[in-house]
Amino acid sequence: MKNLKQEQLLKSNFLEIVAHEPMKSLVCGEWKGSDEISENINPSDTSDVISTFYKGTSEHILETIDFTSKVQKDWAKSSISLREEILKEIADKLLEEKEYYGEIIAREAGKPIKEATDEVIKSAEFFNYFAAEAIRLKGAFMDSPRENVDIEVINEPIGVVGVITPWNYPLAIPAWKIAPALAYGNSVIFKPSSQTPAIAYILAKIIDSTKLPKGVFSLIFGQGGIIGDALAESKKVQGITFTGSVSVGKELAKKSIDSMTKLQLEMGSKNSLVILDDADVNIAVEAAIKGAYNANGQKCTSCSKLVVTEGIYEEFLDAFKTKMKSLVVGNAMNPASQIGPCIDKKQLDANLAYVKLGMEEGATLVCGGEAIKAETEGYYFSPALFVDGKSSMRINKEEMFAAIACVIKVKDYDEAIEVLNDTDFGLSGGIITNNLKKAMQFKHDAEIGNVMINLPTAGMDNHVPFGGRKSSSYGSREKSYTASDFYTTTKTVYIKY
Ligand code: NAP
Repeated sequence: MKNLKQEQLLKSNFLEIVAHEPMKSLVCGEWKGSDEISENINPSDTSDVISTFYKGTSEHILETIDFTSKVQKDWAKSSISLREEILKEIADKLLEEKEYYGEIIAREAGKPIKEATDEVIKSAEFFNYFAAEAIRLKGAFMDSPRENVDIEVINEPIGVVGVITPWNYPLAIPAWKIAPALAYGNSVIFKPSSQTPAIAYILAKIIDSTKLPKGVFSLIFGQGGIIGDALAESKKVQGITFTGSVSVGKELAKKSIDSMTKLQLEMGSKNSLVILDDADVNIAVEAAIKGAYNANGQKCTSCSKLVVTEGIYEEFLDAFKTKMKSLVVGNAMNPASQIGPCIDKKQLDANLAYVKLGMEEGATLVCGGEAIKAETEGYYFSPALFVDGKSSMRINKEEMFAAIACVIKVKDYDEAIEVLNDTDFGLSGGIITNNLKKAMQFKHDAEIGNVMINLPTAGMDNHVPFGGRKSSSYGSREKSYTASDFYTTTKTVYIKY
């Protein structure tokens, strides 16, 4: 299988470094190693060690917090034009080598190469968007009922922000957090997933190559618990923006309470796609396949509950099964692969356990659900489809983070809504219908943060708010103009003259 060729590596200094020496953390503006090294293995081809990295230590994180809390004060006063210039430069540098960075993402996250390259482009868009937001941030001027008193409402950076990110969007999620944090004058301590360190390292190298003052941005590799606890417990960290599992998010929230750290937690979900009798079957199948199986179902916005009304059930199922058979699972670097591997053996084993559980719970497995072989040795799984599902089954309650979908047959729209809302989560959901009234009703009835009408549940735009309800999200919305709600704090100034 094609890996990065030597001549390609030479085109990018960052890639050369990734491939040849253990990657270091960026601590107080300096690159530092440690005594412990971890490997970064390609889930599509377990013989491919993409890179190695030094695990960051508690000393690294404590030193960084101390240092960055000092330099942030000057950064908060920096010119908005400088912030704009730096963020644009990061975007340009990402785009300059997007194919190579796409390969790194494909190899370490198992994301099909086209999607991986698109992620680089999307990430650059976040830096460009927030470059513009940096010069757009505004306050307000207000009158006072008191004579000769004016009031100004200003937005200031919150201070030091910890950024903790998952492996499944290893560049886009850091981009949509780091870009606004810097744009609004905060300093950043970035703790990426240990499963995707190389693309995090490349991003850090790019940021470090700009005019950003040393120490305003730091990268700390290392164990989530060690880095996360230090961030949560420090009074010098004013905010933590986290994307990952519900269990880790809740843990962080508990640990942050004493220091009263501002939190933004984006976590897991259990999303449904409702298909009504009047739906266009082709649109329904397309949306269900993409939503359930793209990226091996390893998206927080994937739909694993397919809620189908009686009148279209048979027709939908036949068309869906036919389309499923055409899906190609294979090495993420192979352009023919539509679905890559599971991220690791633990996830593959979890998928197989959920398939077994679904059968034990009384659902009928009609397709897939097995560990399979591909052109290289990796964690491949054939997309699975269950029918005869009930909303109460664990496979329809828990986030499996897997290419496993379960069809739940319902009588009508009202029952479909009950099934969709019967979950502790509330990130995304969709409906396929030609009935305008039902579509409009759905918009209000669905207890979720992102409503998709005649579209897959996954695949959001960059410039609009993103977040969910219930256990899926905590704190203010990410991306777009709403990002300033988290990364700034409002100050009200009374002036008597
Ligand atoms: P995860 O295991 O929760 O890890 C996420 C991040 O948290 C990683 O950087 C991890 O570091 C770190 N971490 C682990 N333990 C920690 C601790 N005790 N304190 C602080 N940080 C800690 O999640 P994942 O497996 O990477 O990602 C999958 C999850 O992310 C799914 O639940 C998915 O739904 C969710 N997700 C949500 C969204 C959204 O926007 N709602 C988007 C994408 C993904 P290590 O890698 O070093 O353990």
